[in-house]
Amino acid sequence: MTTINLKEVEHKVNEAVKTINFDTPDANIIRLTEALRTESSATGQLAMQDIVENRRIASERQVPMCQDTGMVIVFADIGEEVQFLNGNLRDAITSGVQKGYQEGYLRKSIVVEPLFERKNTNNNTPVVIHFDLVPGNKLRLTIAAKGFGAENMSWVKVLAPAEGINGVKREVVRAVEEAGPNACPPVVVGVGIGGTIEKAALLAKRALMRNMGDRNQDQRYAKLEAQLLDLINATGIGPQGWGGMNTALDVRIEFFPTHIAAIPLAVNLDCHLQRHISIMF
Ligand code: SF4
Repeated sequence: MTTINLKEVEHKVNEAVKTINFDTPDANIIRLTEALRTESSATGQLAMQDIVENRRIASERQVPMCQDTGMVIVFADIGEEVQFLNGNLRDAITSGVQKGYQEGYLRKSIVVEPLFERKNTNNNTPVVIHFDLVPGNKLRLTIAAKGFGAENMSWVKVLAPAEGINGVKREVVRAVEEAGPNACPPVVVGVGIGGTIEKAALLAKRALMRNMGDRNQDQRYAKLEAQLLDLINATGIGPQGWGGMNTALDVRIEFFPTHIAAIPLAVNLDCHLQRHISIMF
């Protein structure tokens, strides 16, 4: 058994929510710079220039790269040979997020309940946490700050099996077209295929947590990712909707076995910020 001190977890979550709001990983900078270099539309290129420059300023001054500092989502993959010291994991994550948003002067965007009062919790929690038990003696936390311009444009639906690959292509491209500028393109497109409706949604969210350019290990799905990226970039929506060839930076698919009668399909859009990080304990 490995013992993990939850005080350390709280500290690292606190640091992580600031890091993902201020700093851009090298792989993302490289991809954004490539989009700037290849953009053929003059207005799209201006938008890309602003996006790249905004990243530089945010990192240099350690300020948020966007006013929407997101709702925090955590995938907690807990090794079966892990035990915790000093409390419970949910409280440690929640406290780390609250402290990080306070110390980092990050906007608090969460309301107590969705319909009636919509009163701000003033600490950017609760956190959406997905716990999973995995083999081994490690804890992996994947922490994301999800902007809702893109989250609002996401959906789940169930296709008939006969709709097949072409049906999936049609619906994924339609999702990006309907989102237009609202998801703050160039977007990253997470696609979940299979399982049930809730499983497909989780697969799409998990897909967004992959690193830029990481392809699906299954060559058939890797090929579909590349085809979808080309189709989406042919829509001409372009950076921030100003027209151009860079509507998406990446398309990532995760899949799961499903029922003979259906193709559950989820599309979860992320904006170009792609704020997430993985920490291993
Ligand atoms: S979708 Fe992303 S870039 Fe757009 S406002 Fe929200 S966090 Fe900011």
